[in-house]
Amino acid sequence: MKANRIYNFNPGPAALPLAVLEEIQENFLDFSGSGMSVTEISHRSKHFDDVINDAVARTKRLLGLDDRFHVLFLQGGASMQFAMIPMNFLAGKSSADYVDTGTWSSKAVKEAEIQGKAINVVASSADRNYSYIPHNIKFNEDAVFVHITSNNTIKGTGWAELPDTKGVPIICDMSSDIMSKPMDTQKFGLFYAGAQKNVGPAGVCLVVIRQDMLDLVPDSVPTMLRYDTYAAKNSLYNTPPCFAIYTVDLVLKWLEETVGGLDKMAALNQKKAALLYEFMDAGDFYRATAEPDSRSLMNITFRLPDEGLEQQFVQLAQQQGLAGLKGHRSVGGCRASLYNAVALEAVESLIDFMKTFETDNG
Ligand SMILES: *Cc1c(COP(=O)(O)O)cnc(C)c1O
Repeated sequence: MKANRIYNFNPGPAALPLAVLEEIQENFLDFSGSGMSVTEISHRSKHFDDVINDAVARTKRLLGLDDRFHVLFLQGGASMQFAMIPMNFLAGKSSADYVDTGTWSSKAVKEAEIQGKAINVVASSADRNYSYIPHNIKFNEDAVFVHITSNNTIKGTGWAELPDTKGVPIICDMSSDIMSKPMDTQKFGLFYAGAQKNVGPAGVCLVVIRQDMLDLVPDSVPTMLRYDTYAAKNSLYNTPPCFAIYTVDLVLKWLEETVGGLDKMAALNQKKAALLYEFMDAGDFYRATAEPDSRSLMNITFRLPDEGLEQQFVQLAQQQGLAGLKGHRSVGGCRASLYNAVALEAVESLIDFMKTFETDNG
């Protein structure tokens, strides 16, 4: 049966590679000769062990992680990490620095504050509606970590380069750009990503943590909220989200074997985003909202001349097989999410549609 697939620009859950969906479909009733679906096998079976170990190994290879790093699969989404990070790493008077670059960073700050932890918001781009990434930030030398959001899914900004924290480990929310490009992993104490944007389906959060960070976890943290619980048991302390982890593994396999790694992925992502930004910059009908040096390559936010036109634009696009172009409800406007699984062809089709829409309404 040939499915009727459209171009999917959703912000998350988002497009998955078609080859991955087909592989799931093909193996769904009989996984790896087990006579059972991957949704029916024990998380303690050799079959599932192979899946999770493969996902860990692929993550390490793709990101070039050395043996100090643990790759973990947790539930509760990226939002749970906002709470777990201060809970696990800030005890007593120790404090951390946070950079506020939009909705998700603000939520991370809030979860630390709820727990009464000592944190400093050392920079914020709230003054210009989060349309840029702050530079020349003065970090506190005694901070236990610096928390940043590498890509701001809602505001459409991203860090072109990591800040210089003078050796203080960075903790980074990479939910919407993990695996979109190679990165210098040496700077991180921990990074995390809800899988449903760039590496899989909803239901699992990928967490990479450096060994020395585990020493900070106070005894008072409950078992299921402690990173060392997951690190000691290869994420199998209790039943993990097996199907979601399996799908992540297939996406990572696609990245390694079909795309050819993160350098290739980054080049393609650059090309896709450049096409769309250059098209918008060339005219004055569409206006990208992020400041040029802070533009996200993953979530491209833009406005049309008025809100009525924006509504028509989103609706007509949907009718023509271009889904998910509405901006987040908190900011309005339009947004095209160009994650790894969104092909160049989809971006070209979007630009064709935009040209026609402008001609008809400009
Ligand atoms: C989507 C998103 C989140 C929230 O993820 P959940 O898995 O729904 O908790 C957090 N941070 C960023 C940057 C996101 O894009």
